[in-house]
Amino acid sequence: MGDQNKSVDFLGAYCPLPLSHSDQIVIGHGSGGRLTHDLIEKVFASQLKNPFLDQRDDGVVLAGIDPQYEIVVSTDSHVISPIFFPGGDIGKLAVCGTVNDLSVMGATPLYLTAGFILEEGLQVEVLEYIVNSMARSAAESAVMIVAGDTKVVERGKGDGIFINTTGIGIRKKNLEISGRNARVGDVIILSGPIGDHGVAVLQARGELGFISEIQSDVAPLNHLIAAALKAGQKETGNAIHAMRDPTRGGLATTLNEIARQSNVGIWLDEAAIPIRESVFSVCEMLGFDPLYVANEGKCLFFVDPEYAQEVLAAIRSIDYGMQATVIGKVVSDHPQKVLLKTAMGSTRLVDMLSGEMLPRIC
Ligand code: MG
Repeated sequence: MGDQNKSVDFLGAYCPLPLSHSDQIVIGHGSGGRLTHDLIEKVFASQLKNPFLDQRDDGVVLAGIDPQYEIVVSTDSHVISPIFFPGGDIGKLAVCGTVNDLSVMGATPLYLTAGFILEEGLQVEVLEYIVNSMARSAAESAVMIVAGDTKVVERGKGDGIFINTTGIGIRKKNLEISGRNARVGDVIILSGPIGDHGVAVLQARGELGFISEIQSDVAPLNHLIAAALKAGQKETGNAIHAMRDPTRGGLATTLNEIARQSNVGIWLDEAAIPIRESVFSVCEMLGFDPLYVANEGKCLFFVDPEYAQEVLAAIRSIDYGMQATVIGKVVSDHPQKVLLKTAMGSTRLVDMLSGEMLPRIC
């Protein structure tokens, strides 16, 4: 009984599968023996098929890169609870999260590795669904999952499934895009409304007390970011100086990170920050500040003011950026601090998130 409740916990109410007769993960799936091999063939290799993964060696050999490029690497572990939520699941999140972290570095994501920690009792069908979701997000982002690992822990020692993804991308040398490079005068563009992911996960946890239509914004942003970079490419260098995805800790925390890294002040216009009406009311009801609620499909751009409109138009030309808008600017006053001009006309200091607002949001 307790075990059954537990499995319902990690699946949550948004699991799209009827699981009555599904096989379950057993300890032997992590043995390295026949069961492991069968699982790899049935669930992973069949869905993530590509010439690299098909080699079945202990490691993967990737092509050497053109000396005009450099390699960018990023890694992220995903422990979201529950594993299904409106708009996505842990698999989609694991691919998009790493694709986006590479993309905001100005890199073209190419390859991913995936490490799975599975709890005994996880339904194999759930695993298949999640791997399929990863395969679809990988296809959308044009990346290949080229290496993987599976471990199994005993019932009660995990929480269904944890996924680590490591991404490898390339970018042109001397691109100089970094959270350290925001400059006084830069215009700050946000690619769309904030708070969707955090509220969708609350919905999945049954913590809203009602059903909202809010879906997580989880999405791969590499094509959107590539369009922005292309528009920002000028003879003098790229007009985009910094980019970052405001995930855990939300918009407020990400802007504070960049203000500190670049030693600049940030000035925000509250009225300009896009928030869906529904997200806004949920936040108001629960006492959350949407500036701190997590996003999984948004990007911040710090752009030379001369080219900001051009870059904004390029971002808006991609579906995921249709609601992109200018939300503020970089200033020399109050270095390392983020100030917000409220809709009422007063000024408020916006600090980093302190403590943990929504644990296990990604
Ligand atoms: Mg990030």
